[in-house]
Amino acid sequence: MFKRIKSLHPWREFLRFGVIAWILYLVFRSSFDRAFHPDYEAYCPFGGLQAAASLFERGSLACTMTSAQIVTGAVLAIGVIIFSKLFCGVVCPLGTITEKLSSLGRKWKLQVKQVPEIADKLLRSLKYILLFVTVYYTVDSSELFCKTYDPYYAATTGFGADVNPLWAGIAILVFITTPIFIRTAWCRYLCPLGAVSNIFRYFLMFSVVTIAYILANAAGLQLSYVWPLAAVTFLAWLFEIQRKASFPLPLSRITRNTSTCNNCKQCTESCPQGIPVGKLKEVRHIDCNLCGVCVASCNQQKSLTINHRYREWYPVTIAVLLIVLGLSLGASIRIPTIEQQWGEPNDLENASTLTISGLDNVKCYGSSMAFASGMKKVNGVLGVATYVDDHSVKIWYDANKLTPTDIRKNIFTPVRRQIKPVPEDVRQLGVITAGIDQLYDVYDAEYLQQLLLQNFPAAYGFETTFDCPVKVNIFYDKTTSVDKNTFKKIVEKREIRIENGVNTRKVKLNYQLSGMTISDTSIARNEFMKMMFVPYRKTFARFDRTPIPSIDTLRLSYNHPGENHYQRMLPYLTSHLSSYQAVLGVRTTFGRRNPELQVFFHKEKAGTSQIKEWTNADRLEIHYANGKKGSITNPFRSED
Ligand code: SF4
Ligand code: SF4
Repeated sequence: MFKRIKSLHPWREFLRFGVIAWILYLVFRSSFDRAFHPDYEAYCPFGGLQAAASLFERGSLACTMTSAQIVTGAVLAIGVIIFSKLFCGVVCPLGTITEKLSSLGRKWKLQVKQVPEIADKLLRSLKYILLFVTVYYTVDSSELFCKTYDPYYAATTGFGADVNPLWAGIAILVFITTPIFIRTAWCRYLCPLGAVSNIFRYFLMFSVVTIAYILANAAGLQLSYVWPLAAVTFLAWLFEIQRKASFPLPLSRITRNTSTCNNCKQCTESCPQGIPVGKLKEVRHIDCNLCGVCVASCNQQKSLTINHRYREWYPVTIAVLLIVLGLSLGASIRIPTIEQQWGEPNDLENASTLTISGLDNVKCYGSSMAFASGMKKVNGVLGVATYVDDHSVKIWYDANKLTPTDIRKNIFTPVRRQIKPVPEDVRQLGVITAGIDQLYDVYDAEYLQQLLLQNFPAAYGFETTFDCPVKVNIFYDKTTSVDKNTFKKIVEKREIRIENGVNTRKVKLNYQLSGMTISDTSIARNEFMKMMFVPYRKTFARFDRTPIPSIDTLRLSYNHPGENHYQRMLPYLTSHLSSYQAVLGVRTTFGRRNPELQVFFHKEKAGTSQIKEWTNADRLEIHYANGKKGSITNPFRSED
């Protein structure tokens, strides 16, 4: 029993299954707690390394990556260079599963003893091709391309939004089946992180290519990063298939004492990578990840050592130290998602800076770029840096042209919104005018809507205008009495829950009420709805080709004239109706009394009842611009 535990290398097993248990906990918790959304990619150094590539080439971070992931990835890369592929050997959950599936394949006698040499060489190229394609598309799009096919990401997120179901489905199938027939097939042939690790293990080659690239560009050649990327992936594959030992690094390697070794070959048997350890004096094989299994399996204690010292604890301890170092450095170093300065060097030298946090709209590379392009239009703003981890921005500006208030005003988007239908018996709406601090972002309109819906049932809508603090008019049922303390408690709630039909998430708020007045005047229900109304009109090309006498209109009552949710749903209704040739267009309008949803149709091709039936379908069939189709529950069904 003791021998069995010893050969399992308990510390390694403890760490590896601890990692899997932690991931299962995250998956389990997120399936019950709909407000819990762990970022699974944050735990994979490959994401950090891709983001680092994007940072060096484009000066921006990919996707939602932050400095924490980049630094963790970089520390693990340095770990590979100095200590070997420890992440693969003692941490990676995919490596753990691959290894276990490989053992099962051997136990069930399904595994080939040896892959034919030529096939082995060709198969080893796959992971480098995958690495090249992944880095290329990540840098090109600033989105983590690996998310589209990564079996780990697809499985943990339940085929989340970024996942390509076909690619990820194939990847999962390949990941599960191949190791049963071919020893650690995923790691040796397909894993792009395994390919990166091998490139770092051939550190001399990596350094020569990098220096050559830097010198070539310094000489004015302006080479794209694609060339060194192609060179290192190709050379690493070439070195790997020629069984070139990595030299002089990594510093740590398995060493065998030939005078005490009794040639039992237990180490060769136990090596998950199938390396003939028992025949070697020193293991410099590229597949060795310093997992330490061979050391633990050796009966002749101290025959197998790491750098001639018996240190069974070494791989796990170094891996844990590297992870802790990566995480703590990552937490202390901040790298902006984008940093752009367009002012003249002189102006930038004398520029003032303003930092604004809590801009939830700044949440990824794309929204950071949108923010920067908005700021470029503001005269006097000289540059911006965004940090998606805490949704903050730093703005360089010319204090002679702008004040911080001017900048905040430019970021601010005024909103006017009805938050729910006003019942017929609510004839008059009162107005509360409040000054609310920390309310600048477009997302704040959504949060304010939820805050009111969840805590102030008498509220039917609001509008915001820029001021310091932001001025908010809240429209509510005039018959409800409101006192300042209750209202302050509502505005200063620290958390709301946002549901989107699939997920629920908790949002922390930090609004401060600084002053409120309750107006004596009121606004009639109909006037309020007219004020909130946002017109919509979309006609199809066939509308213009149809003679006017043939056009008829179906008129339905529409109770949501200014509700954001329904505004967003109108294009889906339009898409749904577009597949019926008789339908010519959709619009919303505010007649003399009430808002209406109107559907234009060709009266010789369909009757009113038919159009009504299509408009009232249980589900809306949607045709997306990329050719895909989908369907959603029809929110307009009860409009009749
Ligand atoms: S090669 Fe890839 S899957 Fe295998 S252990 Fe390394 S990182 Fe994990
Ligand atoms: S040689 Fe030893 S340390 Fe290297 S992979 Fe095989 S068992 Fe692990």
